[in-house]
Amino acid sequence: MNREQPKKAVLAVDDDPKSLKLLVDVLTLEGYRVITAQSGKDALEQIELEKPGLVLLDIMMPEMDGMETLKRIKAFDQDIPVAMVTAVWDEDEAKRAFEAGAYEYITKPVDIEYLKLAVLVKLFSEK
Ligand SMILES: [Mg+2]
Repeated sequence: MNREQPKKAVLAVDDDPKSLKLLVDVLTLEGYRVITAQSGKDALEQIELEKPGLVLLDIMMPEMDGMETLKRIKAFDQDIPVAMVTAVWDEDEAKRAFEAGAYEYITKPVDIEYLKLAVLVKLFSEK
C-alpha cells in the first residue's frame, strides 16, 4: 500500500503466545512497528515507556484481565485508542468495554482483514 506508516507503535497484549504471534505477524507485514505484552501489568509498563498509538487488548488474562487493564490504561491516558480482542462474543461485556472507552470489540478467531482495517482507520484518523 502506498502510504506513510505512522511512527507510533501498536501494542499487542495477549497471554497466549500463539494469539500474540498472529497479531504481531499480521501487523508487521502491514508495516507497523509492533510491541507486545503478555499481561495487563506488562501492558501498562509498555504504555508508559513506549506511548503506543494503539492497543490491541485481550480480555481473558490471568490476574489483571483486559477489562481492568482497559480502565487503568484510560486512567493513565484517555486518548490512547484501545481495541478489545476476545474469544467469546458477549454483548454485555462489549457494552461495558465501550463504556470504559474501548473503540472496538473484536472476536477470535480474528478476521485478518477486519483487524487490519480496525487498526488502519484508527491510527490514520489520529492527528
Ligand atoms: Mg487470553
